[in-house]
Amino acid sequence: MAAAILFDLDETLHDRAASLRAFLIDQHRRWFLDRVEEETFVERFTRLDAHGSLSKAVLYPKLMVELGIDEPSGADLATEYSLRYHEFACPMAGAGDLLAALRRQGFKLGIVTNGWTDFQSRTVATIGIRDAVDAVLVSEAEGLRKPDARLFRRAAERLGVATESCLFIGDNPTVDILGAEAAGMRAIWLRRGIPWPNHHPPAQLHVDELTDVVELLL
Ligand SMILES: [Mg+2]
Repeated sequence: MAAAILFDLDETLHDRAASLRAFLIDQHRRWFLDRVEEETFVERFTRLDAHGSLSKAVLYPKLMVELGIDEPSGADLATEYSLRYHEFACPMAGAGDLLAALRRQGFKLGIVTNGWTDFQSRTVATIGIRDAVDAVLVSEAEGLRKPDARLFRRAAERLGVATESCLFIGDNPTVDILGAEAAGMRAIWLRRGIPWPNHHPPAQLHVDELTDVVELLL
């Protein structure tokens, strides 16, 4: 039985796809309404973004070149992203209730996320789950990124439990699931769109919705 449950943030507790889409529709409406189709803007951003793996300071200038647009500058759009994204950030359906139920059962709870400390901390706060967990580890602040096993071990340490007593839940097969397992944790893969890598044996535990975790744990 696990003593602690650790979660990835983006596309696990934070519905990044829905939040990002809402932000992009607003950004399109304010800057590009008569110049680019809304779906073209959203689709090209989403493809370059590759599940959040490309810095927006790099992404926006590329996107403006692709769209053949000079104004506003990519740098200004990237600044706007960092300032306004959180107005649109929303939790994954059922995330708050799940965390509350797990806490009532006595689990220690934590979040381990790759990204910028300020940005990810604001996401945790604005989707209303900061007080629902015992620790939040962001890669920039920790100086380590998933799938580095040291970051998973540090999270266990922060919660005061053994690494082997932790269960990790995340959507990224390589970064979250194989990373957690390599560190000695069990893991549940949330199937949200990133395919399982062919060259690895299938995930031992998986769910299609975050709320399905309850049936595996309670
Ligand atoms: Mg994720």
